[in-house]
Amino acid sequence: MSVMSNPAYGEVLSEGKAKTLYITDDPQRLILHFRDDTTAFDGAKRASLSGKGTLNNRFNAFIMRHLEQAGVPTHFERLLNNQDSLVHRLDMLAVEFVVRNIAAGSLCKRLGFESGLELRPPLQELFLKDDERGDPLIYDQHAIRLGLATQEQLHRGAELALRVNELLMPLMADAGMLLVDYKLEFGMDDGGELLLGDEFTPDGCRLWDTKSRESLDKDRFRQGLGGVVESYRIAAKRLGVEGVVAEE
Ligand code: ADP
Ligand code: UDP
Repeated sequence: MSVMSNPAYGEVLSEGKAKTLYITDDPQRLILHFRDDTTAFDGAKRASLSGKGTLNNRFNAFIMRHLEQAGVPTHFERLLNNQDSLVHRLDMLAVEFVVRNIAAGSLCKRLGFESGLELRPPLQELFLKDDERGDPLIYDQHAIRLGLATQEQLHRGAELALRVNELLMPLMADAGMLLVDYKLEFGMDDGGELLLGDEFTPDGCRLWDTKSRESLDKDRFRQGLGGVVESYRIAAKRLGVEGVVAEE
């Protein structure tokens, strides 16, 4: 397949809670389709939010390009259309790397951290990617003993997750937002390199307006605050994400 030609959509490889992966005529490339579906609490709360797929696809492309330019290896190749991106096929690690700059969400519920407490240096956590078990917090040793990742992969993932923080904290700050926390997923490409996969969007991070501390992320959906897509759009426009217009 030449780089510029449009890939042929093949069968559905997987349909997750918010995205669908399609195989293509190139075995090393997949089409990542961002749907309007949104879920919270491991799938217990669901809705379809018009325009979310397009916003997240464009938001993700913007962030992945920014990271790639700064030397973070990612699966992102290019935008195909409003809701689809071409990515490198990865063998995903079934763990989630979370980085926290400010205490929020499960950290407060689980361990009693005061919401809004600054975490310096940032706190890193590992979760098992398993909705049926409620994505529990795990140690590296659990992931290794379960055969989900090697020590080296976990070390590299944690290193890249922190590098992402160094790059995105100032980017968000310049756009008037606090990067509170985020979740990353990594996978191995066919050459044995660990790449950042999945997505970086307001579905998988917390972004607060710097002044008001208002949420511009999926907490609006989790907490039933409304204005979910509108908030994602505000965040995208502040960052200068291309193709984000007032009405989508
Ligand atoms: P979930 O699995 O949480 O319901 P999504 O609806 O977001 O997730 O679906 C995306 C799925 O695709 C996730 O399981 C993710 O690990 C996987 N994935 C993301 N990027 C890639 C990739 N480049 N290659 C293979 N799988 C990927
Ligand atoms: N997160 C995610 N997917 C998950 C769990 C968490 O994208 O399955 C993100 C979440 O949006 C937040 C960060 O990871 O930005 C930390 O989430 P937390 O552990 O506080 O859990 P939550 O409050 O989402 O239950």
